Amino acid sequence: MSRTVEPIVEQHAQLGEGSIWHPPTQRLYWVDIMGETLFVYDPESDDNRSIHLGTHVSTVVPRKSGGVMLAVKGGFASLDLETESLTEIAMVESDRPNNRFNDGKCDPAGRFWAGSIAYDFAQGAASLYCMEQDLSVKKVLADVSISNGLVWTADQATMYYIDSLTYQVAAFDYDVDTGDIANRRVIVEIPAADGFIDGMSIDVNGNLWVAVYQAGEVRCWNPANGELLDVVNVPGAKLTTSCAFGGPNLDQLYITSAAGGLSADELKEQPLAGSLFRADMDVTGVPAFEFLG
Ligand code: CA
Repeated sequence: MSRTVEPIVEQHAQLGEGSIWHPPTQRLYWVDIMGETLFVYDPESDDNRSIHLGTHVSTVVPRKSGGVMLAVKGGFASLDLETESLTEIAMVESDRPNNRFNDGKCDPAGRFWAGSIAYDFAQGAASLYCMEQDLSVKKVLADVSISNGLVWTADQATMYYIDSLTYQVAAFDYDVDTGDIANRRVIVEIPAADGFIDGMSIDVNGNLWVAVYQAGEVRCWNPANGELLDVVNVPGAKLTTSCAFGGPNLDQLYITSAAGGLSADELKEQPLAGSLFRADMDVTGVPAFEFLG
């Protein structure tokens, strides 16, 4: 199908990531991980507020009590959006200088899940963590390589998760009361030549929208049978990293991208690398959960 996909913030973010829509304020939060910056995009004014944090910030989730929670270089932090003051809360990988944090999301109970990654993508060097409402953190999965893409089903029975180096979207049984996960199985697997599956969102039909890094695409799969249902082609940027449904009706898909590491020639071929894009969709998304701690 044809659809409008346009750049709405044109810039060469080194590693644009972490898009998440905040319905109460009608803003899109996103980050430039290597640029150490949190962005707050207001579609009404077209203003893209930029907050430099001085640490590799990899994901952002809204906090019900105010401000946002962040995953930063060594762990979990909070940010006051008025004073822009950052407070480290649980630096669970401060002893791992070769790692940083990566993608994360809140679960239906308001826990904050985020995983890590090694700067050199070392296999198995990363983990997936979960912060409870009381701010305690437990390690949920070890032996992870590139932690990405967390969403939960509407019935709260399943969590989908991506370790990009597996080239797979995995499903787990999920217990909303305890946050426990079990019974990993593979839902989707892509050829390595296609790129890395990266950030993920879920729509009202339970289908998964997954950014494919290096493909310049967001692909939609039916997790029930692995069928590829749709592809959103992003113009002028191949390193597509995350996506989030947003807008007043949750029928727009915001897509982040990266420019870091591209040569001058590659940047000529990808003039919009690092930009934030928006696609008009014919399906609506599910609002992301807030942190309740
Ligand atoms: Ca990612």
